[in-house]
Amino acid sequence: MHDDPLDDEEEEEPPRNIGRVVFGPREFDTWYHSSAYYFSQKDELKKLTWKRAMALMEAKALDKDKDNHTCDMSRLFIERYSSPSVGTPGGTSSALTSSTISSSGSSANASVAPNDQPPAQVDFQVKQLFVCDSCFKYSKVSKDMAQHRSTCKYVFKHPGETVYKSKDYAIRRVDGAVHKLYCQNLCLFAKLFLDHKSVFFGADAFEFYVVLGKDTASSRHFKPMGFFSKEKLSWDENNLACILVFPPYQRRGLGKLLIEFSYVLSKYEGRKGSPERPLSKFGTLSYMSYWCTTIARFILIECTEDVITIETISEHTYIQPEDVMRALKEMHAVVLYSDEKAKKVQLGGRVLKKSVRRWVNSGNVKLSPVIDESMVFLE
Ligand SMILES: [Zn+2]
Repeated sequence: MHDDPLDDEEEEEPPRNIGRVVFGPREFDTWYHSSAYYFSQKDELKKLTWKRAMALMEAKALDKDKDNHTCDMSRLFIERYSSPSVGTPGGTSSALTSSTISSSGSSANASVAPNDQPPAQVDFQVKQLFVCDSCFKYSKVSKDMAQHRSTCKYVFKHPGETVYKSKDYAIRRVDGAVHKLYCQNLCLFAKLFLDHKSVFFGADAFEFYVVLGKDTASSRHFKPMGFFSKEKLSWDENNLACILVFPPYQRRGLGKLLIEFSYVLSKYEGRKGSPERPLSKFGTLSYMSYWCTTIARFILIECTEDVITIETISEHTYIQPEDVMRALKEMHAVVLYSDEKAKKVQLGGRVLKKSVRRWVNSGNVKLSPVIDESMVFLE
């Protein structure tokens, strides 16, 4: 046991304070507490020290500060759960960590809504939060949101540039420094579905890859359905910081699409990548599925070499060698070199092609990629 006062590991998750979100035509429960939208001045301000309030950002709410009970975050975006290792959108040591992959990736398609939902009679600070499903501006007042929608400039044209476009989905790259307000509001929204350890600060240092699609077959416009953030400059070679598929759009394979796209980016950059750690349970499942499938495709279909090594696989898939090893172990498709076993170095081993084939057949795994690279628009 240790008593580091900055260690918030044991801090209990506060109860949800925002009941439901109205996001365009969809209404759904939040999953986690967020003091980033509104906070009780009396309760929260006294807990904040200047050091702890690591960021003051503009996030314009549509609401006026109508009462004394809650403070509109129009000028402040403070996340009080900061710790020395955090301070970025998804940049916390636990951003992708704790629950972030709300993906519908093939093997991780279980919803990640926490099990410990509070009882229905909880007295929420905000019962319904109206969030624009084009720009993520928000209001506690339905009428104000309706008014905003009539003038929202992002209804017809989303910010950023298209980097992927298929029949059903598009991905747009949005620069956090250029479209600051959009990205900050996107982060605020995401926080409702991320556990309390996840902190968003300083969107400037990040790019956001927002996946857009039609809500229903009859919808006229594409709308944001999820995103991942990526540090513009990652010293740890992370190709993804934080990922979230919004609750109504899970189970559409969007988590898988986003993860795959993060590796397409790595390929264009010519650098192997890996998601920020630690991974949540669902993040681990989603990534393991992606790694195994991609590696199996390489070994069984694409590889022309007689001897397959961990390094060869990594070079071709842009998956870090450590992750390649994890996936091969998952498929029981590697025999570690004995001397390395002794040294506990796990980056060398004999790849067992037969075992990979067995893994594919037993799970009836489809090896085709989600992304057609002719639909990728990257330089
Ligand atoms: Zn809007």
